[in-house]
Amino acid sequence: MDPEFELLLRGGHVIDPKNHLNGLADIAIRSGKVAEVSEFIGASRAAKVVDVSGLYVVPGLIDMHVHVYGGYEGWLFPDQHALPNGVTTVVDTGGAGWKDFEDFIETIIAKSITRVLAFINIVGAGMTGRPEQDTNEMEARPCAEMIRRYPKHAVGSKSAHFQGPGWESAGGAIEAARLSDSIAMIDFAPKPSRSYQELLERLNPGDIHTHLYAGHIPLLDENLVVNEYVRDARGRGVVFDTGHGNMSFLFRNAIPAIGQGFPPDTISTDLHKSSRMVDTTMPVTMSKFLVIGMPLEEVIDRSTRIPAEVLRRPELGHLSVGAEADIAVLERMEGNFGFVDSLRTRLEGNQKLECQMTLRAGKIVWDRNGISFPKWSDV
Ligand SMILES: [Zn+2]
Repeated sequence: MDPEFELLLRGGHVIDPKNHLNGLADIAIRSGKVAEVSEFIGASRAAKVVDVSGLYVVPGLIDMHVHVYGGYEGWLFPDQHALPNGVTTVVDTGGAGWKDFEDFIETIIAKSITRVLAFINIVGAGMTGRPEQDTNEMEARPCAEMIRRYPKHAVGSKSAHFQGPGWESAGGAIEAARLSDSIAMIDFAPKPSRSYQELLERLNPGDIHTHLYAGHIPLLDENLVVNEYVRDARGRGVVFDTGHGNMSFLFRNAIPAIGQGFPPDTISTDLHKSSRMVDTTMPVTMSKFLVIGMPLEEVIDRSTRIPAEVLRRPELGHLSVGAEADIAVLERMEGNFGFVDSLRTRLEGNQKLECQMTLRAGKIVWDRNGISFPKWSDV
């Protein structure tokens, strides 16, 4: 008789915020899905058993700000950066626009093991070729049409890097999201003619401002207190995303804001060629929040359940029975570590997360220390 389960992860500490789980539990997998989560599942019921004691077993991480479309020169192919870091879902943020989104599906999305979702750029050619400055290319209607045509892949619209004085880019993306009943993600540089406060007032509930701790974002007032209008925006349902990146995460903004009760809603990396060089992987970015003082369960929540809800993908970000078995097995290491932000300043900490194993749809796609393999002398 075939065993009941293909795989059993035994003895791990499961953190699954959506299901209010934070303790020792075994997880069994069948047909790529979570089949059972309970305190004890007998080893004989599974074809393969992996001992994950001493490790944290969490839903596959969702990195909702990356650059994986080949049209953009800073792009990275998703699998080799996502899977070794416990990330099973990435969201490309505007690499492709409404003119080249189908090329993105064909060349990257369809070829990745990592689940790739996308915000479609309000600029027709996205981040390909000419920079995102041509206002004639910013069209809400075709952007919204493309979002509607590919609901499996597209989660909303994106505006980024616009240096002009007007609202064509951010306003266009917000309009495209409204027309397609989706969400907008905005990367914003305030100008005298368009303030951060006005942006937050224009965003609809569910829309996202990314890079909240960037140097150019007036999150804090001159006394380093979180501006009241920013809290008001969160109160209305505007979402604040990390988008760490090469330039967009400053300890000098994040530490006071978090101390005043203003954490990011979602933790994300803004992974691309340059940010990869300052080690902005998900486990490292999550570790920074841990070291700043955010409890581990909350760090996991802001990297799994909350991004799934923000992206309106309630099927993701948890380990409910029946869910696709996207799982990250993390180690919480203790020692002396240093973390670097976008200003190239250092924060010292005594803990750091590292991904030991990643499962995508029930398959082991990363195993740092070979814990799922037999000893060479036993075969
Ligand atoms: Zn970005």
